[in-house]
Amino acid sequence: MTGKALFSMFLLLSLLLALPMAAGAEEGSPLFVKKVENLPDDFIFGMDVSSVLAEEASGVTYYGFDGQPADLFRVLADNGINYIRVRVWNDPFDSQGRGFGGGNCDIPAAVEIGKRAAAAGQKLLVDFHYSDFWADPGKQMVPRAWKGMGIEEKSEAAFTFTRDCMAQLKEAGVDVGMVQVGNETNGALAGEKTWMNIAYIMDAGARAVREIYPDALIAVHFANPENPDSYRTYAKKLDYYEKGGLIHYDVFATSYYPYWHGTLENLSGIMTEIAETYGKKVMVMETSYAYTGEDTDFFGNTIGDGGSFTKDYPFTVQGQANSVRNITDTVVNGMKDGIGVCYWEGAWITVGNGSWEENHEKWEKYGSGWASSYAAVYDPGDAGKYYGGNAVDNQAFFDAEGCPLESLKVFRLMRDGNAAEVRADALEEPSVVCDLAMPLELPETVNAVMTDNSRRPVPVTWNLPAEKDRAMHESGPDRYEIDGEAGGMPAKCYVSMIEYNYLADYSFEEGGSAWVITDLKKADELYIEDKKNDSLTGSKHMHFWSAARDSVEFTLEQTMAGLPEGKFRFSVSIMGGDCGDTDIYAYVKVNGEIIARSEPMAVTGYAQWDTKSTPVFTHSAGDEITVGVYVKCAGSGNGAWGKIDDAMLNSVQ
Ligand code: CA
Repeated sequence: MTGKALFSMFLLLSLLLALPMAAGAEEGSPLFVKKVENLPDDFIFGMDVSSVLAEEASGVTYYGFDGQPADLFRVLADNGINYIRVRVWNDPFDSQGRGFGGGNCDIPAAVEIGKRAAAAGQKLLVDFHYSDFWADPGKQMVPRAWKGMGIEEKSEAAFTFTRDCMAQLKEAGVDVGMVQVGNETNGALAGEKTWMNIAYIMDAGARAVREIYPDALIAVHFANPENPDSYRTYAKKLDYYEKGGLIHYDVFATSYYPYWHGTLENLSGIMTEIAETYGKKVMVMETSYAYTGEDTDFFGNTIGDGGSFTKDYPFTVQGQANSVRNITDTVVNGMKDGIGVCYWEGAWITVGNGSWEENHEKWEKYGSGWASSYAAVYDPGDAGKYYGGNAVDNQAFFDAEGCPLESLKVFRLMRDGNAAEVRADALEEPSVVCDLAMPLELPETVNAVMTDNSRRPVPVTWNLPAEKDRAMHESGPDRYEIDGEAGGMPAKCYVSMIEYNYLADYSFEEGGSAWVITDLKKADELYIEDKKNDSLTGSKHMHFWSAARDSVEFTLEQTMAGLPEGKFRFSVSIMGGDCGDTDIYAYVKVNGEIIARSEPMAVTGYAQWDTKSTPVFTHSAGDEITVGVYVKCAGSGNGAWGKIDDAMLNSVQ
């Protein structure tokens, strides 16, 4: 072939290959990324990789998108990460030099990480915990070497420690861009719990940083933005001490874990308020999102498929990217002076795929788990008890083999967007509640979560054999999972089989307004009482008491609206005493006439609940159904009393 023919061939091939791709999409990337408008060139995209040295010592290898082993920092830099964050603990080792785990992050580790970041052209973000191990809203323990110090001596120690650390980083040529004086310091730091003393420690750290790295930004860092009033307090306290000459800082930073930390609207609101009120820069200092619900290291994860937390995106690679993209958009376009987003521990993955035993050995030896057993000398109550592996391996940007996930490209791609074809990424999993006596109706469509996070209904086929359906109806109240298929993906529906109660306020917890009380003999007391010990369930019940003989006679009724046609049974419970001769029963009225009544109900003493049902009755269209209890007590002369609770109107087959 001539050169010209080759060229024509090349052109043709290029055209053919390019045609199926959407405009503006990176070749070969199925990741949908909506452009973040107004994203500054110098916006901080940080990655906390504090565990990396312990991971590598444990045998972890990281790969690039070309499938070749690669330097982690290079892979991150190539994908838009321009800052590396590292935590620094004062002394995370026991007296025999055995590491506490969590990466054994002391200052030599930070220097090593900083050097590698610098080699990849990245700045370092130093996160001083001022503790010998994890500091967070739950604990801010004083470093062992500072124990027993008064605040002046402790501040001096914080200054000296920080200055030494910064000098070592400087000496190694590390490009420090930002330093945090404390980590998630929600009202405590290094064992200090008053804002004045916290400000002293922060100020000592900040002064030491400025002495060695005068241009580095000083950040304070808090957690739980879902409580904006707490943030207002933190910012106000810091402002008070700043005006008094303590702790000049540049950045008010927050953790934002979408599962627990409120909405993006709330986040942008409170961070903008602080930026405007105090003239500070703001940023998201920590975030992460699960790409899978699976655990990969034999140590349970914080976030999995179950659990009660907010799940705005599916736990998929695309869901993880969408979470990061939308947080970035909020910081850039929803906050005043939002300067960055830092992802937490995106390279902390399993140290082995064999067994818990193998991994455990590495966690202990190299500190690649969240805590080793050696941490017990410092934190016996938590780390000393629950030490082990990695609880966030399903939130990394690398899979269990060390290969980068497609989502890692989001930092780079959100600058221009990536218009990959929008496709179904996951299915929502609907929940259905079914009356045991009624046919089970499963949804005909389920929502597909599209890669652009929109929803699209897809027809679904459920796998529910008649036999299972019957068993579900006959086995009493229970919860089931039904599998199915929709759009080529496995679907799931959660079904709760329940004995549905058609009565409103059946246990009187809502105050009883759905009920009509007719007091025929003017009892001394007849009302809804709030007293948990005297209730069958909940904390409220219907109470009666009357001193004189023959002064208790009443009905308690509820007339039903919207009751479906079918067969039903009404039941109710009562306890009481000192009632003498009684005439008590539950009944059902159809169009005002009693058509069914229970056996006589007995009141025989405190907590001796008697539950009785009416015979089954049929409700036809057009009939008005009223259920009720009739109570008549002659009394014994001591004051007849009783309690009524838990009225049930259930359908029967
Ligand atoms: Ca795990």
